[in-house]
Amino acid sequence: MASTVEELVARAEALALDVDLTGVAAWKEADPARRVVGYLPVFVPIEIITAAGMHPVGIIGGTDQVEIIRGDAYFQSYICHIPRSVVELGLSGRLDVCDGFLFPSTCDVIRNMSGIWKLEFPDKYVKYVDVPQNFDPEIGGNWWRHEITSLRADLEKLGEIEITDESMWTAIALHDENRRLLRNLYDLRSERPWLAPTSEVYLMQRAGLVLPVQEHNELLREYTEAATNSDRPLMDNSRIVLAGAFCEQPPLGLLRTLERAGCWIVDDDLLLGPRMITEPIIDPEGPVGDPVDALVKAFLDKAAAASFIYIDEKVKGAELADMVDKRQAEGVIFAAPSFCDPALLDRPMLARALDERGISHISMKYSENTGQFQTIREQAGTFADALKLWSDA
Ligand code: SF4
Repeated sequence: MASTVEELVARAEALALDVDLTGVAAWKEADPARRVVGYLPVFVPIEIITAAGMHPVGIIGGTDQVEIIRGDAYFQSYICHIPRSVVELGLSGRLDVCDGFLFPSTCDVIRNMSGIWKLEFPDKYVKYVDVPQNFDPEIGGNWWRHEITSLRADLEKLGEIEITDESMWTAIALHDENRRLLRNLYDLRSERPWLAPTSEVYLMQRAGLVLPVQEHNELLREYTEAATNSDRPLMDNSRIVLAGAFCEQPPLGLLRTLERAGCWIVDDDLLLGPRMITEPIIDPEGPVGDPVDALVKAFLDKAAAASFIYIDEKVKGAELADMVDKRQAEGVIFAAPSFCDPALLDRPMLARALDERGISHISMKYSENTGQFQTIREQAGTFADALKLWSDA
């Protein structure tokens, strides 16, 4: 018998909040040859991990469930929360199931964590993944090809296997399907947000950080079907886009508070990494050529705009304003982690792009362990009411 929405949400929430990675450990124990590779936010080419037969696991911190004891000693007080939280997870043994770790060049914080990891966990495979900031195929493209090829060789060594082109294409197809299912779910939420509220859609996404992609695809299919067929009542909340939450994640309570305050989040940049490529990598007629070339081209041509990616000729904020138009949103809530340089340094440029199109916005900050939401509820509730009273959207 098919699962209900409530059962699927409960399953996803248990997976999303499993900071001890018990499900991942069970997957690994089923076969001694299995390997797990953790990756930090935001973007790494997870297709290569899947192609190696390994389990890519997204590591985004300990939420409000993990008390930071040793992690604080590694960092000054004026940076975001996620690095101290991830170090705490590592030192407390909760990440022991991982055989390797990928640290992308999201910002100085995550870049420098790769060094900490090498010192603290010398028996683990650690790679700093230098995501290009140049989109010329001859420069950034060649660099990204070099990074992907080197990661492929490293994982072959780690798993004592060969990663064939065939397994690369199979993995790319699985992740293409994953992104297609997520786009479908985002479309459903935008069209009828009362059927698939963000507090649930987010859990579905987050479960994907700890599930093999095949299982995550199945969960997304089941939830989308169950939510579409549910008979939840229509609620006329204000439609907003949430921006700035691509790395350290807000607590679930914050997303629920925004909904209770009268906001439907109809688009966002939550957990952006696994859905960063916005179109299928494989052409409609099927795989053609070299899979590494396909991954390179996808990043150069099909990556979403993000604060941690340099843009040259385009207007910073134009994609955010376009998103507001596409989703028929009435306003934007900038919600960024405290001390997040990429998000907070971009905000004035993003706000200017919204101002130029007459799009209302407010801003707030959070940490993954923020526990008090009353002020946020009042702020978001006032914003939602103002949009309902005065917005033209
Ligand atoms: S939250 Fe922001 S500053 Fe902190 S690690 Fe992530 S991108 Fe870097």
